[in-house]
Amino acid sequence: MSIRFAVTLDPLHIGAGGYRLGRVDNTIVRDAGSGLPKVPGSSLAGVARSYLVQILDGEEAEKARACAASADNDRGNCGKCLACRLFGYAASGKQKKSHIGLLRFYDGDIIAFPVSTVAGPVWVTSPSALAQVLAPADVPVAREDTVLVDGALPSGMKKINVGWLYLDAEPAGDSLTALRAALGNDAAKRFSRLALAPDWLFAELVNSNLEVRTSVSIDPLTGAAEEGKLFTYEAIPAATLLAFDVDIDRARCAYACDADGKNPVDADEALRLLDGALELCGVLGMGGMCTRGFGRVRFLEGA
Ligand SMILES: [Zn+2]
Repeated sequence: MSIRFAVTLDPLHIGAGGYRLGRVDNTIVRDAGSGLPKVPGSSLAGVARSYLVQILDGEEAEKARACAASADNDRGNCGKCLACRLFGYAASGKQKKSHIGLLRFYDGDIIAFPVSTVAGPVWVTSPSALAQVLAPADVPVAREDTVLVDGALPSGMKKINVGWLYLDAEPAGDSLTALRAALGNDAAKRFSRLALAPDWLFAELVNSNLEVRTSVSIDPLTGAAEEGKLFTYEAIPAATLLAFDVDIDRARCAYACDADGKNPVDADEALRLLDGALELCGVLGMGGMCTRGFGRVRFLEGA
């Protein structure tokens, strides 16, 4: 398990595609069991591949760019450039074979979710969210109908409003110490006040505090809104803490050679390149509505 923490700098919209849920037209991808929004590993793999091609230099860059261009021309991927070896390729166009890549991208989960309270923003987490990123022994136990708040509350405060719920608040003690340690110093400043809630409450809080925005299509001829083209879309809000598990198949790296049968993939170098590609997610973003101020995700340095 190789966990990478990330924080959304803008709302993040990874569309579920084409179905309407309640009042929202364009919904985001959710976990079938928990109902919590998530970021599919395939979405991250897609942007990581495209950003990797941008950060490569020298010969590898030329090969990867030529491969990306030939894929567009329906000739299929080359199967031998670094992007093909790390991310895999499918049989298409003149490429008759397909191959799985060396990198493994798993779905990204919401680990801590920002909710406004009278005492300022609080990042709420839950035992099942923490179980995604901590060793089983470090996963804290939550209290029913109570939030355990880490970070000082105004003196005498015994209850707190998290979103529209008004709940008992108690000090977290060392319940969230393991999460703080995993996040490291950079993140400790960013998430000033964490709170532990039971799982049922976490799902409720997340789903009732998602960002919902409204847009309208513009008629290019009149420059005005088109009749009946108002639509709404939901998004994971800015400042949400996410975690992605990304790994590399080290055993197969030695066999992943270039077109001349040389230069097998160095796993550590590949992971460094991946980090460079993921850094671009903090600048160029991922997911939908990237051209409208959505989608930047900054990967954190870690502990
Ligand atoms: Zn290629």
